[in-house]
Amino acid sequence: MPKCTYEYEPGVLADYPPEIPLDCKEHSTENSRFCIFHDKSYYIEHEQEAAKGFEEKVRKCITQNKPLVCFGYYLPGISFASLLEGKSFSQPVYFNKVTFTKDANFWKAKFSKKANFDGATFMEGAIFVGAKFTEEANFVAATFSKEAYFGDAKFTELTYFGIAKFLGEVQFRQNEFTGKTFFRNVTFEQQNKVKFDENDLSNVSFADTDITRIRLGDGIRWGGDDKFTLIEEKWLENKTKDMKVEPTEDVTLELVLSVYRNLRENYEFRLRYDDAGKFFIKEMELKRKYREIITENLVENKKNGWFRRNVSLTGLYYHPSRYGESISRPTLIGAITVILSTLFWLTQSNPILEPHFYPSAEPDITSSFIGFAQVGNGTQWLKSFERSFADFLPLLSLGGDIKVGVIDYIIKIVGGALTFGLLLIAFRRKFERKYTR
Ligand SMILES: [Zn+2]
Repeated sequence: MPKCTYEYEPGVLADYPPEIPLDCKEHSTENSRFCIFHDKSYYIEHEQEAAKGFEEKVRKCITQNKPLVCFGYYLPGISFASLLEGKSFSQPVYFNKVTFTKDANFWKAKFSKKANFDGATFMEGAIFVGAKFTEEANFVAATFSKEAYFGDAKFTELTYFGIAKFLGEVQFRQNEFTGKTFFRNVTFEQQNKVKFDENDLSNVSFADTDITRIRLGDGIRWGGDDKFTLIEEKWLENKTKDMKVEPTEDVTLELVLSVYRNLRENYEFRLRYDDAGKFFIKEMELKRKYREIITENLVENKKNGWFRRNVSLTGLYYHPSRYGESISRPTLIGAITVILSTLFWLTQSNPILEPHFYPSAEPDITSSFIGFAQVGNGTQWLKSFERSFADFLPLLSLGGDIKVGVIDYIIKIVGGALTFGLLLIAFRRKFERKYTR
């Protein structure tokens, strides 16, 4: 019988050891130029035979300790869990462009070497619960038509889900993403059915993927000391330091910003405003730290210098208020203003008159600088505090006795206006988020 004519066409990025044949060594069936594994049109006829043949093949690969090569196969419902009998795939597996026509059950399967599923199509459920990937796991461009269960799966090395399509329910729970994990350019068609929980996602990238509506449980942790830093931010930092970056880690400022925006929107949608606020701060911080320089057709990202980071408008918005998210910072500014102002008026012989910075020649008519000579006098403290407070409150007019001068206006504008302006922004943001949806 003639040989099957199938030949695998590897993707651009794929690199296979030369001993892995790209053609098929099986015999073709009677009515076709393909074998039972590659015959799409007669597939249903050969289903039983294919299932048996495949089980044999798997057993043979395990006993002979050879890589399992199944490029482009049509595979019926196979339970690798029972087929493996607790053994692991000790050699690489190649399920590239395989079509799993029924449930593909890899429950607790151990992949000791590279596991390739790129371009695979799971027409029914894909069960990888408890699976362990010791080396690279590759699901690039895979299509998960129904449920994709990855609970308890451990990914130790590089893991690629790039441009994969998840069309149904997706579960990633209690995973280990020890290596860098890419969900770049992934399609989650029913985001409402996508759940990530009890996971450390500090090594996971969702760049170019819409995750605004997926479900991120309370048990999700991100990276960095603040637990809200994304891995893409580290890549951007490496890039601006002129370090060599992998093509998969080549990100732009705009891309990193969009992932933070995605997450902010996600947490806001789930009414988790405090966390949403944290991502908003991360987004603004990134804008404060980096900038984009467009020269001809080239977009370059640069780290901002100290001056640009701290004295720019963003810098001035950041320090006193954490971009309008903080209530404690403007409150602190207010308190410090009142304290400093009180101490200042305390140094005046008469705290209701126009102040002087030197001892006056006519201490009875004008106020005079007396230092802290009156520090033990309660009335002096009270008068000083009253004047400070009256200056500080934006709408309170100063009492008739007080001779209003430039110092009062400085306190009013710098202390009062800044404090209350920033507080107003922070409160408004909190209330708007809560009541406008
Ligand atoms: Zn074939």
